[in-house]
Amino acid sequence: MTSAAFPGFEYRDDALHCEGVALAAVAAAVGTPVFVYSRGAIETAYRAYDAALAGIDHLICYSVKANSSLGILNLLARLGAGADIVSGGELYRWLKAGGDAGKVVFSGVGKTEAEMRSALEAGILAFNVESGEEIDVLDRVARAAGVRARVALRVNPDVDAQTHPYISTGLTQNKFGIAAAAARDAFRRAADLPGLDVRGIDCHIGSQLTKTSPFSDAIARLCELILSLASEGIRITDLDIGGGLGIDYGKDGDAPPPSHDAYGAAVKQAMSVLGDHQVRLLVEPGRSIVGPAGVLLARVLYNKDNEVKHFTIVDAAMNDLIRPSFYGSHHPMQPVRRSAAASRVTDVVGPICETGDFLARDRALPPMERGELLAIGAAGAYGFTMSSNYNTRPRAAEVLVSGETWTVIRDRETLEHLVRGERIAE
Ligand SMILES: *Cc1c(COP(=O)(O)O)cnc(C)c1O
Repeated sequence: MTSAAFPGFEYRDDALHCEGVALAAVAAAVGTPVFVYSRGAIETAYRAYDAALAGIDHLICYSVKANSSLGILNLLARLGAGADIVSGGELYRWLKAGGDAGKVVFSGVGKTEAEMRSALEAGILAFNVESGEEIDVLDRVARAAGVRARVALRVNPDVDAQTHPYISTGLTQNKFGIAAAAARDAFRRAADLPGLDVRGIDCHIGSQLTKTSPFSDAIARLCELILSLASEGIRITDLDIGGGLGIDYGKDGDAPPPSHDAYGAAVKQAMSVLGDHQVRLLVEPGRSIVGPAGVLLARVLYNKDNEVKHFTIVDAAMNDLIRPSFYGSHHPMQPVRRSAAASRVTDVVGPICETGDFLARDRALPPMERGELLAIGAAGAYGFTMSSNYNTRPRAAEVLVSGETWTVIRDRETLEHLVRGERIAE
């Protein structure tokens, strides 16, 4: 975790820091578990996309579901980002954080009419429409509101993203998008509807992509469609290529993801077939903006051994970070106080009553005593947003570090929060 892949985190005098702040000081003040994010790392990642896409008209629509805390959204809005949202709730958050409605794209296979109405009212940039039925419903909702909805059609390009099956979204067997073979007809039909203003084409083939070739293949498919639609008089001006790069989760033997520059070069190369047909490029990165910029801090509660295993029981659990249990993901881990002791192999587990409640299995870590702090890295994306109250555990606090200062951007939940809105029947 203290490597070039995690720019915000390093040891100073054997104490792990986020930028200029000792993680132990944050844990002492706020308690654990707590997510700690590096503002500098988030800004650097955002700017790396911007620089990689320089020279082409582009908009970076940060994928809100990766980390939707107001303090994070506000930071990205101030950098000039747009947003990729997948629910009315995410629109509410983006606007509340000071985000620009005019830079919002709304993705997702199951938008409700109420969500469509609120997005039309806010004046979002575009709906990424995912089915024939959704085309008709959005047309009707927009006409009833007396407006035209700007839309892109999400095409499923049938490209293998070569990632975990749960986060592979661009294959025919996945629920997302309109089948490539049916896309031309869908565009023709949508272009004729008075409530719709068809401007864009969109895809999102998956997450945690560690090669540029799936992006290139998907862009090639979409560009082919753009050119053939143009020949029928349907002019596409926005090309949205979905989520961003994968990140380094610190697992030995895993190839590092491509650099932003390699990604930018591959995208530009794939788009060059468009020739004079100028489009604006939209990208929807989430994981690669916030993932490496966050750690989850946990405190060791107990150690125990049996004949075959050592267990390190910590106060963070699968309800705080579900990725290891859900996807079998690897997260890098380091003690907050650097240790010279020889590592031993341990399972890092939480207090939840599930065998699936583990943060790491068979991990080599220096021995850590009760009370010591463990930093779980690459936890800034799909960490807090996928957390739950399972086992009636309050959700963690979140802290944003900037240089020598830090802000609690979310308080730890209280027990009252956990029962809010509940009542006992007569
Ligand atoms: C999840 C998602 C993204 C973000 O993907 P990352 O891999 O986190 O960059 C972008 N667009 C859509 C439609 C998504 O569902």
